[in-house]
Amino acid sequence: MVLLIEIAYLVASVLFIVGLKQLSSPKTARRGNLLGAMGMLLAVVATLVVGGLDWIWILVGVVIGGSIGVFLARWVKMTAMPQMVAVFNAFGGGASMLVASVEYLKPGTAGASLTVALTIVLSVLIGAVTFSGSFLAWAKLQGHFEKALTYPGQQVVNALTFIAILAIGAWITVQPGAPVSLFVVLAVLSLLFGLIFVMPIGGADMPVVVALLNSYSGLAASATGFVLDNNVLIIAGALVGASGLILTNIMCRAMNRSLANVLFSAFGSQARAVASGEGGTKIVKEITAEDAAVLMSYSNSVVVVPGYGLAVAQAQHQARELADMLGEKNVEVKFAIHPVAGRMPGHMNVLLAEANVPYDQLYEAEAVNGEMERTDVVLIIGANDVVNPDARTNQASPLWGMPIINADFAKNTIVIKRSMSTGFAGTDNPLFYKDNNRMLFGDAKKVLTALVAELKNA
Ligand code: NDP
Repeated sequence: MVLLIEIAYLVASVLFIVGLKQLSSPKTARRGNLLGAMGMLLAVVATLVVGGLDWIWILVGVVIGGSIGVFLARWVKMTAMPQMVAVFNAFGGGASMLVASVEYLKPGTAGASLTVALTIVLSVLIGAVTFSGSFLAWAKLQGHFEKALTYPGQQVVNALTFIAILAIGAWITVQPGAPVSLFVVLAVLSLLFGLIFVMPIGGADMPVVVALLNSYSGLAASATGFVLDNNVLIIAGALVGASGLILTNIMCRAMNRSLANVLFSAFGSQARAVASGEGGTKIVKEITAEDAAVLMSYSNSVVVVPGYGLAVAQAQHQARELADMLGEKNVEVKFAIHPVAGRMPGHMNVLLAEANVPYDQLYEAEAVNGEMERTDVVLIIGANDVVNPDARTNQASPLWGMPIINADFAKNTIVIKRSMSTGFAGTDNPLFYKDNNRMLFGDAKKVLTALVAELKNA
């Protein structure tokens, strides 16, 4: 029986690894997701087969948790996915903390070996930090306490709290007879640390923090795997930990920031800079859907830059229809995807895949930037920060240093958005005032529908 369970765990682990690999391309991502889910089902069933478990409580948990999961998956909008991921991370960390705490309270377990005691401490520490930190990240993404909360001497308070946690953790590890109250202090201080760790980070940096906390939730699960002596939990946790770290690194690079800069510089609290315009009255030129359709249909090349507004308007199908219509008129159309466009990694890929935009029409920022000067029209749909030239030219901008799609180098740009409002970083965009830019104001879905209608008539 034990051998069968270990074989099931091995197969589940292989399914996780192959599934993860397949998630790295939009073509295979769905299959990868399914493989991962199958691996998890196999791991759960194999674990339940182990004797001594109270089935009634497990079933009650599955029904309650499963119902909430199905409800949330249907109810939460695509644009609120980052918040949902933050809450998932919180629950992952919380679960690890609770399981390790129960093991600690079992008579004789913590004193069984140094490894068990150490992994219990690590599970509680990382799990608790992930739990409270993720809930604060959720609140910040939701628009509450969005600004970085800072005060003098904050780094010192954070460092001292962390040192206290390490000292208590070390004491509990080497002293099996340590009082339970000390364990409670460890858990409470770790929960507090999760909050004060995320507090000084601004809302604009939350995606990176959520990716990092995702990695922590994996590490906490892996440590719990050691506590329970459960191989599949160790492997699955390590996979989540490693992939979360890789994602954190990718997002830092996409924003041209180091992780230390995100975590410790209170970047998000900076006063929002204004665009580096020449001062004085800035003139914005508008264009009608009719004129925009004519301009694009007489172009050789059009690059479409989708952003968060496309997701809000759910205009992906209209965007594809527009690209198809232009294609029929022999205009070469490319979609330029910025890695942090939208509100979650891969957001634009997911949206455009839903509308069946062919993968070979999707290009990364670097791929289109090289040919921007030769591009006739860049059509920017609900994007703002990812095409803000201040990132290249204005050191005072919160976007300074972030690689962008260099739409401002193109012969013409057309921006579809509802107003002159700022994007996520809360800063003005000098592109909108350029001579060769035209604003096409309105909800992206309505404007794209009008453009498609005009192209049909043209
Ligand atoms: P932005 O948030 O910079 O801008 C989106 C623009 O869309 C707004 O200026 C808004 O202007 C417009 N908009 C909103 N609704 C509509 C609508 N219905 N129709 C038309 N336009 C609309 O988006 P970007 O994609 O350019 O940049 C993403 C930003 O989000 C970056 O700063 C990134 O760092 C950050 N971020 C990224 C995450 C990720 O993982 N991808 C996660 C969290 C944040 P108006 O109101 O005038 O219409």
